[in-house]
Amino acid sequence: MRASRMNLATLREDPADAEIASHRLLMRGGFLHKSGAGLYLYGPLLQRVIDKISRIVVDEISRAGGLQITMPIMQEQALWEKSGRWATYQASRTMLTVRDRAGQTFGLAPTAEEVVTDYASHVITSHKQLPVCFFQQHTKFRDEIRPRFGLMRVKEFIMMDAYSFHASSESLDATYAQMRTAYQRTFKRMGLEAFAVEADSGAIGGSGSHEFMVAAAVGEDTILFNPQSGYAANVERAIGRVAAVGKVSMPATCTAVATPGHGHISEVVAFLNANGYVGITAAHCLKCVLFVAKSATAETTVAAFVRGDREINEVKLTNAITRLLGDAGPVLNLRPMQPDEVRAATGAEPGFAGAGEGLRVKFAIADKLTLAEAGPLVGGANKTDHHLVGFDLARDALPGLQWDELVTIRAGDGDPRSEGVLEEKRGIEVGHIFKLGTKYSEAMKAEFLGPDQKRHPFVMGCYGIGTSRVAAAAVEQHFDADGITWPVTIAPYEVVIVPAGKPGDVAVESAAEALYSELQQAGIDVVIDDRDAKPGVKFKDWDLIGIPFRIVCGRGVAEGKVECKPRGGENADVAMADAGATAIAWVRAQIAQRRAAADAC
Ligand code: ATP
Ligand code: MG
Repeated sequence: MRASRMNLATLREDPADAEIASHRLLMRGGFLHKSGAGLYLYGPLLQRVIDKISRIVVDEISRAGGLQITMPIMQEQALWEKSGRWATYQASRTMLTVRDRAGQTFGLAPTAEEVVTDYASHVITSHKQLPVCFFQQHTKFRDEIRPRFGLMRVKEFIMMDAYSFHASSESLDATYAQMRTAYQRTFKRMGLEAFAVEADSGAIGGSGSHEFMVAAAVGEDTILFNPQSGYAANVERAIGRVAAVGKVSMPATCTAVATPGHGHISEVVAFLNANGYVGITAAHCLKCVLFVAKSATAETTVAAFVRGDREINEVKLTNAITRLLGDAGPVLNLRPMQPDEVRAATGAEPGFAGAGEGLRVKFAIADKLTLAEAGPLVGGANKTDHHLVGFDLARDALPGLQWDELVTIRAGDGDPRSEGVLEEKRGIEVGHIFKLGTKYSEAMKAEFLGPDQKRHPFVMGCYGIGTSRVAAAAVEQHFDADGITWPVTIAPYEVVIVPAGKPGDVAVESAAEALYSELQQAGIDVVIDDRDAKPGVKFKDWDLIGIPFRIVCGRGVAEGKVECKPRGGENADVAMADAGATAIAWVRAQIAQRRAAADAC
């Protein structure tokens, strides 16, 4: 490719709304154009990156047995009603909808379980055809509450989504393991450090799932992990051991104490310590948070309890309420109560809610990990300006208190599977794999004929990779002060040749052109920078855009030499006759290295 024909448009300044490196550098390099809120146009450079990422994904998912298909983005409401997800996605307002001229409503695919399950029910009849895995690489739409960070969280994006169909859960387990390896291979080939963590299944549902994370300080997910034991989980899902606290002396019976104007735990603790209850800390308090949970059919009031020094994890709480709701579930939306709702639920001002008398909610749920073994506590009295000291959950809580895991695990908590301690880091979710079981096939009556001549619902798995998000995540792992440092396997071009002689220096130009043809013939993705610009400007552009290998044909050409430099590496003088071979060998070695890393998975 000739740079003069590439319509390059790099920016020297960071765009004002770009908060993270990938957004900033992709905008400055001219990869991205903002077309609307959460909507981006992929420029020619980004298109090449996306194509390369897509090719690796297709290659690896096919290698794992996937069959590529393309499903419609516009999906009939009726299909989504069969699975029950139309209501879920409408309630969470995640799905964008359109209407055709006949007035029929369609959802724009946020994911495609319904369409593929319907397909499978038509094309798979016998157990002899199983297992099968279909996948596509296609546009997805999600009406995100807060699109941000450039390609990272957008309303329209490209996802590889795969769906596997099985006769048994053992067969699903085998494919799930294969897909997990395929993901690891995929990210290794792209030069991305990604790792699997246990995850919550969210609106997709199912019995188990893992997310693939790229470690990055700007990641929106928190991961708890222990490098010794290998445990790693999204905070939404993480379990752990929470250290117990020493007991303090409190009245043997539950005693109401006036705490005028002190509703917040830290205020109550300070007030009690100053009034004779020495040694009480936040960890001796019962934290009560009141919520309203919405399902498709009901609104439920909930009081959630956790030890006073800890936080409630809303994903865990949502799952706990969903379990309690049974057929009336799942919970589609969870929000803290407004002050007037708190007054109605407790008969008191906010800050004085507790688990004893006076609490009027549908469900009261206490955290097992921090409260099951707790000693006497300080809790709200459900009476304005009053707390209860010496409150014993087993003795004093209202009947019907439920127990579940609600606490947010944090760094310093114990590894659930070993003696070790958990650490915390941030990650970008680039992929997600789920064991769906029969959730969709049962709801949609998608069945096959088993060896017993009876009809059985398919056992299913599903698997997603955020193809376009991967491009942004790759930049977060590969950039420096000058710009992007693409791994060669996903770089828009592999090599750039910069003629840097005086204008009209025919020897330089012909040396550059000869190298250009040599590299093109070898199948290298090569650019020659034939623009009428100063070498310094050209170097800056290519460093920003992130081409992995640069050859400069300059003054040295007169002595038969050119300069070769891997991005971020050292400049070396190379004999002109060897320069093409040097670049080709470098690119091939890089690709081979990534493949070897994938083969080691
Ligand atoms: P997130 O938690 O980041 O919202 P998700 O868990 O809802 O993502 P999945 O349903 O698991 O996403 O979708 C599979 C993959 O699609 C994700 O792992 C991610 O890489 C990508 N993805 C999801 N939502 C977006 C988005 N709004 N913009 C870009 N990529 C996305
Ligand atoms: Mg996910």
